[in-house]
Amino acid sequence: MRLAVCPGSFDPVTYGHLDIIERATGLFDHVVVAIAVNPAKTPLFSTEERLEMLRESIAGIPNVSATFFEGLLVEFAAAQGATAIVKGLRATTDFEYEFQMALMNKRLRPEMETVFLMARNEFSYLSSSVVKDLVRFNGNTAGLVPPGVAERMRPRLLTGQTDPRGGPAR
Ligand code: ADP
Repeated sequence: MRLAVCPGSFDPVTYGHLDIIERATGLFDHVVVAIAVNPAKTPLFSTEERLEMLRESIAGIPNVSATFFEGLLVEFAAAQGATAIVKGLRATTDFEYEFQMALMNKRLRPEMETVFLMARNEFSYLSSSVVKDLVRFNGNTAGLVPPGVAERMRPRLLTGQTDPRGGPAR
């Protein structure tokens, strides 16, 4: 049984993430999508909310499950019985950071492989933060995030908008 872990912040999950997850399921018997809980960051959605959106989004894929973890990714992956960590690579900007992470993880656990899947062309510009910006200004998110995710983002981001004339929010 070949198991892989697909880690990320998933704040929130996008079709870019889901494409990588789905492609990973074709390469491994089981894929564990894992939300990295980072106390140093302030996410838009709580871990529970991110997990709920992830679980809804992967419901149609048979060999995937979702969870969260704290601490070192390689240790979590090893404890799950994974042989690989699967990550998506977008533009060259992802490369440097991912290269560093992969080498550090290799140093910590040489038996754990990091597998990179290239982002699909249509999702190579897509990130959770770009979608957040889009929703803040009431942009159309169709084809970028699942409808349920967009619905949860709107009330969270549309409130507290700045005055469209450019002045501070009142
Ligand atoms: P984000 O950068 O959107 O906040 P995460 O930190 O949740 O994403 O990233 C988790 C993993 O998913 C990373 O390996 C990242 O490179 C990958 N990923 C994120 N968005 C995409 C995308 N649009 N296409 C392919 N891979 C992606």
